[in-house]
Amino acid sequence: MIYLDNAATTKILPEVIESMIPYLTDQYGNPSSIYKLGQDSKTAINNVRKIIADAIGAEETEIFFTSCGTESNNWAIKGSAELGKKDKRNHIITTQFEHHAVLHTVEYLAENGFEVTYLPVYEDGIVKIQDVEAEIRDNTCVVSIMYANNEIGTIQPISEIGEICKQKGILFHTDAVQALGILKMDVNKLNVDMLSMSAHKLHASKGIGALYIRSGIKIPNLLHGGGQEFLRRAGTENVASIVGFGKAVECAMSKMDKKIANVSKLRDKLIDFVLKNIPKARLNGSKNNRLPGNVNFSFEGLEGESLILLLQEHGIYASTGSACTSGSLNPSHVLLSIGLSHEIAHGSLRLTISDLNTEDEIDKVIEVLPQVISRLRSMSPIWNDELIDYVAKQHAKS
Ligand SMILES: *Cc1c(COP(=O)(O)O)cnc(C)c1O
Repeated sequence: MIYLDNAATTKILPEVIESMIPYLTDQYGNPSSIYKLGQDSKTAINNVRKIIADAIGAEETEIFFTSCGTESNNWAIKGSAELGKKDKRNHIITTQFEHHAVLHTVEYLAENGFEVTYLPVYEDGIVKIQDVEAEIRDNTCVVSIMYANNEIGTIQPISEIGEICKQKGILFHTDAVQALGILKMDVNKLNVDMLSMSAHKLHASKGIGALYIRSGIKIPNLLHGGGQEFLRRAGTENVASIVGFGKAVECAMSKMDKKIANVSKLRDKLIDFVLKNIPKARLNGSKNNRLPGNVNFSFEGLEGESLILLLQEHGIYASTGSACTSGSLNPSHVLLSIGLSHEIAHGSLRLTISDLNTEDEIDKVIEVLPQVISRLRSMSPIWNDELIDYVAKQHAKS
């Protein structure tokens, strides 16, 4: 099996599982209990708080555990909106190609009296700083722009956008779920007020996330209940998953430069091969400004879903669009946002590489992909090899 869907989720590292086991067995104390069994759980959580804070250049008191990246995004945006409403600010800026955890949250707010501006991301999949500046109004309460896109991997100019928001006194949130543990980041250099994280995208378990909230920013709570997380996020902590999250962040931070170099090399090998050897293929999103492990192509004349199923027959796991949009007939909003037609967007393939993948695996993909694509195109009513030859000859003539 060759797993190349690491933007959807990742394999849990053995050392992460090992770190979690005590908290699923003997160390089951409730962190809110005052006896030792409870306090040991609390200590474990606070150790991870420090690990995560250090990883992003924050203070421990600025890290709040949540149930997932989706909750972190909801809390940051709804909280900022509620704060804004108190000063009669009801305008939100985001982008057209955010994850649904952001898009559906702002759509909900739009139904409840907020105005939303969706910034374009252009063909290269990157927000323009001057667009952010131009759209900021007197009543803007929050700007939410993702750090790196989950489908096309493009990295946004977060630090520059944050600088503008800071000057204008507007809250700035970034969904960094795809970037945490992959890229180095520092919340102060990034000029962000809030930053969303999720553990299962970096080799830890599902159902655990965190939100960084800059000290002094008093967004209201999303969940009300007990006094956990400094009175700001109620609910008994998922201790084992938090511990695993910490271990995964530690693993990710060690030798990060080397991993970035290795994974980028595999990415570029795959991209260069496809663009050179498979006709009518295009790379979606900027070639240079993208996550080390992200590859996203569109192939004319085939259906992404068929491609995924044929690749699976060869033991290769990939995706088309995002995991959330596949299964629906609408093409990915991300691919449409960079200007692809419905037809082209439907023929898309996302391969997301992690540091657990090997060069042999990429070589296998390079061997299989052209065969599978030719096979699909030969079955396609709109595209086949003869047609490709014909088009090529016409081009040569003209
Ligand atoms: C996966 C993902 C999320 C959602 O995180 P969950 O922990 O699965 O809720 C949000 N944003 C981005 C960019 C993601 O890739």
